[in-house]
Amino acid sequence: MFTKLFNSSVIARVGRTSFRLMSSSLRKLDGKVAIVTASTEGIGLAIARRLGQDGAKVMVSSRKLTNVDKAVQELKAEKLTVAGTVCHVSKAEDRQKLIQATLSTFGGIDILVSNAAANPCFGPILDTTESAWDKIFETNVKAAFFLCKEVVPHMEARGGGSVVFVSSYAGYTPIESLGPYSVSKTALIGLTKALVPQLSQSNIRVNAIAPGVIKTKFSEAFWKNETLHDMLLQSIPMRRIGEPQECAGLVSFLASDDASYITGECVMVSGGIAGRL
Ligand code: NAP
Repeated sequence: MFTKLFNSSVIARVGRTSFRLMSSSLRKLDGKVAIVTASTEGIGLAIARRLGQDGAKVMVSSRKLTNVDKAVQELKAEKLTVAGTVCHVSKAEDRQKLIQATLSTFGGIDILVSNAAANPCFGPILDTTESAWDKIFETNVKAAFFLCKEVVPHMEARGGGSVVFVSSYAGYTPIESLGPYSVSKTALIGLTKALVPQLSQSNIRVNAIAPGVIKTKFSEAFWKNETLHDMLLQSIPMRRIGEPQECAGLVSFLASDDASYITGECVMVSGGIAGRL
């Protein structure tokens, strides 16, 4: 009886206090397989790590093989179940390889985190060239949609799934110097909502997260310069920049059955920066 009660968790006693240490059999993503795009550094890597810690088998990917190998090595050293493959999300053949590699390595797909984004230009919106506009929308919106469309049959084969798009607070309040990027992030919020009716029929939930300013290479222009950094902090109610792992728990929650009645939402992770369309 005692064994039956406690074989799925361990009670540790420190002084007069008891803690329940969760064993691996209780992790909320056990048995799930996740694809995370652009997951060799920054927010994507933190998400891959957290999904792995929560029990998922994770396919890591990004454009450069050396980055993929490094991230996979790092996560495997943490005893997480991961594999990696190169995938530039704008390339249809790379997306197919990502899906096939996930199926052949882990046997299915339950979770897609679409995290990749491009931002080739910085400046007034009316200075945007057509090629920069196309690149932003190709990577940030079109590739996100098509990867989602391409994984849906595999989620259906498992009886359902969960998709999470990584949008941005800029999708709600455009950043003046990042106009087209901001519009692409607004489009992802729209895409999230547009997918709900059809994906719901297949028991697939689709949500988005909207990070505020998170300390990564992508955002270093905002936090490396001391003057800009100080001005930035004044616009964040919590008066600090976020860390990549502060986005990851939310993604794990949205991907899990704890969020079983949540779909079509975009959740801010922004230290209090408001987001309303
Ligand atoms: P990051 O630290 O610069 O990491 C970028 C990752 O994306 C790398 O792993 C990179 O690896 C990969 N990558 C770049 N282009 C790719 C492509 N076309 N296909 C596949 N992988 C690609 O960036 P981050 O800040 O974590 O940004 C991640 C997401 O969060 C983006 O969608 C971004 O818009 C969003 N976001 C970030 C912030 C922020 O403050 N950091 C705020 C709001 C939203 P390779 O070079 O090997 O491809």
